[in-house]
Amino acid sequence: MPSILIIYTGGTIGMIENPETGALENFDLEQFRRQVPELKRFNYNIDALAFGPPIDSSDMEPSYWVKMVRLIADNYHQYDGFVLLHGTDTMAYTASALSFMLENLSKPVIITGSQLPIGQLRTDGKENLLSSIEIAAAKDANGRPMVPEVCIYFDNQLLRGNRTTKINSEGFNAFRSHNLPALAQAGIHIFYETHLIRRPAPEAKFKPHFLMDDNVVILTLFPGIRKEVVDIILHIKGLKAVILKTYGSGNAPQASWLYERLEELHRRGVIVVNITQCSKGRVEMGRYETSLQLLDAGVINGHDCTLECVVTKLMFLLGHGYSREHITKLMSTNIAGEVTIPEEDETLSAS
Ligand code: ASP
Repeated sequence: MPSILIIYTGGTIGMIENPETGALENFDLEQFRRQVPELKRFNYNIDALAFGPPIDSSDMEPSYWVKMVRLIADNYHQYDGFVLLHGTDTMAYTASALSFMLENLSKPVIITGSQLPIGQLRTDGKENLLSSIEIAAAKDANGRPMVPEVCIYFDNQLLRGNRTTKINSEGFNAFRSHNLPALAQAGIHIFYETHLIRRPAPEAKFKPHFLMDDNVVILTLFPGIRKEVVDIILHIKGLKAVILKTYGSGNAPQASWLYERLEELHRRGVIVVNITQCSKGRVEMGRYETSLQLLDAGVINGHDCTLECVVTKLMFLLGHGYSREHITKLMSTNIAGEVTIPEEDETLSAS
């Protein structure tokens, strides 16, 4: 009989309307269990743990990721799979962070939530929860877990966690993985795209990580951006990395003040990573003159990563205390299925 551990962290899925204020508030695990009597119909051993107190995921911080990793690591050998109930707002950040922090994961960690609380009639929470449990328990013909990855399950799709972004604040189809197809699709049956699913090497030992360094900042370019805005970033004490959200395939304005500041960041040892503001596609540094200059200023390529992935990957790598050179190399290395590196860049990062 498969054993599944549900970890309830909070979010809309487990909220209830306060009759006095009308605002949604978190409720506890026992109330949650009462709302989903279907849990008893699984022929699985299902245990549940809750964050005390559960949080709205807008309050998410790296220390909570550490708490989640600790809960999974402490219970790793007792369970076949884990289902994490989480608010949708920062779910993609958590999924990305955990994909790095749970190295050589050989069991499913399926993160889900809902747009409507589980107690409401038209809730999407029940389907999301019940299918996530089924996926977390699923085994292949050789008895191995179907999806030994950190994934987000939402609205009938199973997506790789570190490829996923929240794209809809209202619809049930709240998440997309723009640069990688879904790992599974749920209908009458659940169809797994087995060729896309990652597995650790059989001899690789599960290794949880607990250190994240949050000295990172996001700088989004827009027409009319003023140098004073970039100057503020130069003055952030302890800053170690900037995620530069550029246009199209990684382009930025050619204003000399911008390059002077980027060069200064480089001189100070701050890592600057170029990702695109487009939802789909990749950064190709050097394709246009407007991105060639960024290369000259020491900016590194974020390829086709999501923002959530780059933020958490940098926190993870900085948390290891690696040198800038090593982090630069690892940003162009696929470590948890988070990035597609074109072949010519792969040889560069390997050399
Ligand atoms: N604010 C909620 C949260 O992220 C929204 C949700 O769960 O959908 O926790």
